[in-house]
Amino acid sequence: MAYQYTRQDLAFAEEARQFIRTNLDAGVKRKILSNQLPTRAEREAWQKCLAAKGWGAPSWPVEYGGTGWNVVQRHLFDEVLTEEGAPGYPVFGMTMLAPVLMRFGTQQQKDEILPAILSMDNFWCQGFSEPDAGSDLASLKARARLEGNEWVINGQKIWTTLAHEADKIFLLVRTSDAPKKQLGLSILLLDMDTPGVTVRPIITIDGHHEVNEVFFDDVRVSKDSMIGEEGKGWTYAKYLLGHERTSIARIGQSRRELGRLRATAAKVPWKGGTLAEAEHFRRRHAQIAIRHRVLEETTLRLLEKVAAGETSGAEANLLKIHGSEIQLDLAELWMDVVGAYSFAYAQAGVPAGAHLEQVAPWEADYVAGAYFNSRKVAIYGGSNEIQRNIIAKAELGL
Ligand SMILES: Cc1cc2nc3c(=O)[nH]c(=O)nc-3n(C[C@H](O)[C@H](O)[C@H](O)COP(=O)(O)OP(=O)(O)OC[C@H]3O[C@@H](n4cnc5c(N)ncnc54)[C@H](O)[C@@H]3O)c2cc1C
Repeated sequence: MAYQYTRQDLAFAEEARQFIRTNLDAGVKRKILSNQLPTRAEREAWQKCLAAKGWGAPSWPVEYGGTGWNVVQRHLFDEVLTEEGAPGYPVFGMTMLAPVLMRFGTQQQKDEILPAILSMDNFWCQGFSEPDAGSDLASLKARARLEGNEWVINGQKIWTTLAHEADKIFLLVRTSDAPKKQLGLSILLLDMDTPGVTVRPIITIDGHHEVNEVFFDDVRVSKDSMIGEEGKGWTYAKYLLGHERTSIARIGQSRRELGRLRATAAKVPWKGGTLAEAEHFRRRHAQIAIRHRVLEETTLRLLEKVAAGETSGAEANLLKIHGSEIQLDLAELWMDVVGAYSFAYAQAGVPAGAHLEQVAPWEADYVAGAYFNSRKVAIYGGSNEIQRNIIAKAELGL
């Protein structure tokens, strides 16, 4: 049954909206709405603003700085944040590492690491994938061997998002050659400026620097840099990836894009009227909107289940698949609505001082780039084919 928001829910959402409108920098908002990544400093300033208000980590338990909101409030806040064009939370630290630390970390790790994630004094990246270990993550080769009181790390990671901006990395490495490859893995935590760590950029098809290769040459970290027990890294990694997948559904962002697309289509002339009135546009828009509504209901159901202490099962995989497919379809619809204008914003070839606003509406800025960039959503966090395999095995018994 569809969840109906109460009057209190809506009042809460309105309070959040007013706070964001009052405090969010207009330049940052514009970057987000044109699908560009704000700088580390801009993201950090916003995270500090939320943390100062006590809203820095809604998904965390109150004892660690969480808000104590119920699942509906958390969902609504997330929606409003994205609708208003605010930067996302520092997902690697907050949504992936923190839950693992809260459950499996030492008291010292929690005391030192969690507050710095909340304030974003430390920004984390995720070092899991390798050139020959993506979908088949457990076959990774990066290794750590114990020498006295130190782990010595050698190997390579790839696709490490924002490694060039990160202070720290959580690293899945092989610490022993157990007969089953999943059993020999552990998670280590280290500073990105540790001697022997080298970050090499990968420039993606949209011309942006978002992902990297990271190399480890005899990198030494103390023995207590490990999360939990040696050899249990696979268990912790699976726990962590469950949190990653739920957060990838991007429901608020897709809702915002549905609204912006309709508004933009209403400005595009089409056969004596506007594109927003054209049947083919309305049909495609409605189809995505319906799937989006289903996704939202599924998310609320899952959040209620998790809040009641039940485990998430295959729903997280389902959300990842449908959330990413909706994002891909939205990016395609954007291209069909304003794609050609978007090239007016391509940096190369634009003379200095050119008045781009006269050529195309600003909504078209980076639409083509965003389309190319969005291809990633079906791949990262575990590709959609792999998510389907998991559902087939776990739920359908195939
Ligand atoms: C933009 C971006 C950011 C990323 N950020 C990070 C990050 O910060 N940290 C990190 O650790 N990783 C990151 N990744 C890596 C991501 O998790 C991997 O790309 C993903 O797991 C897929 O692995 P792969 O690229 O090696 O592809 P492969 O595993 O080689 O897969 C290639 C293709 O084969 C398909 N395939 C593979 N195995 C099967 C199977 N058994 N059944 C059916 N189909 C299969 C896949 O679905 C895919 O289409 C990022 C990736 C991208 C694109």
